[in-house]
Amino acid sequence: MARPISSASELLCYPFSAMSRLNLLDYPPLELESVAESLGAPRYRGRQIATWLYAKGATDITAMSDLPREFRSALSERAEVAVPEIERRTPSQDGSQKLVLRLGDGARIQSVLMPDEDRLTLCVSTQVGCGFGCAFCFTGTMGLERNLTPGEIVGQVVAARRILPDGARITHLVYMGMGEPLANYAATIQSLRILTDPKAFGFSPRRITVSTVGLVSGIERLANENVKVNLAISLHATSNQIRNRIMPVNKGFSIEELLEACRGFPVAFRQRITFEYVLLDHVNDAAEDARRLVRLLKGIRAKVNLIPFNDWEGSGFQRPPLQRILAFQSLLLEAGIRTTVRWSKGEDIGAACGQLKEALTA
Ligand code: SF4
Repeated sequence: MARPISSASELLCYPFSAMSRLNLLDYPPLELESVAESLGAPRYRGRQIATWLYAKGATDITAMSDLPREFRSALSERAEVAVPEIERRTPSQDGSQKLVLRLGDGARIQSVLMPDEDRLTLCVSTQVGCGFGCAFCFTGTMGLERNLTPGEIVGQVVAARRILPDGARITHLVYMGMGEPLANYAATIQSLRILTDPKAFGFSPRRITVSTVGLVSGIERLANENVKVNLAISLHATSNQIRNRIMPVNKGFSIEELLEACRGFPVAFRQRITFEYVLLDHVNDAAEDARRLVRLLKGIRAKVNLIPFNDWEGSGFQRPPLQRILAFQSLLLEAGIRTTVRWSKGEDIGAACGQLKEALTA
């Protein structure tokens, strides 16, 4: 379980790599009370800050009019509300929208807004780049630049909310953008606390999915957190031989260990663990792979998302023909596994699964 921040002084020493002042978006309401206290104000001032930040979407501390002037001025000296700047918005034909966001130190990340009937899902990043080097993933080719802070993760939601049309709201969040959320564990958990806190964003944990490449130790820690979010696993292969080849992380955590951790993960009523499976032509798309997948998932409340590979130049992989994609799906469905083919949203704008890199080279 992640160690909670236990005192205001510790809180104010929170390690910021890119900012000299505190970013108030790093803290859930209770910790904002500690921030207020550390500046000599009563704790309830922290609750007022939380209302300004999360309910009213305020970013200007000096405009928080029910706080005493001297407190606002002291707070402004020590803290800021750093929201990533939307540098570019690229709409896709399918209605999704890629956002290129610039962080305080100039680094760029991406978020993707994906409408689907009555849902509006925001896909957020947790790192600048990614160090896991999955062979089929464009993001993986850039390596890891740095972790995001909690406020930079939460800030993607704040920034995206600002551009929504009147009456629209983000209903679901997926941690599936750039980076591996469980490799930036503390910031991921802190951001989940802020996003699910009823006095902050108030998202239901059931509407949040954290996706992992398969960091077994992280899954086990997440299982014991009091934020009960959904879990998605990037599986992508059914034998260790193939998975070692396309996902180097498998050399540290085998498929068997990974699925054992999934069996121990608490799955909420009516929820399932999602297994993402990118279909690569003649690599992992044979009927035998589908049958092996059925055997592997036995005993797990699972659903499978099949993702036909989104080609990118130099990848060395290809998308299987439609017939083989549908045959793979049929074998899973016949075995009673809920299976959808996810024709990635935002494919035409480079925002589809495994394609989030372009922003950093822009
Ligand atoms: S698939 Fe995920 S974990 Fe693998 S390289 Fe890409 S972003 Fe990183």
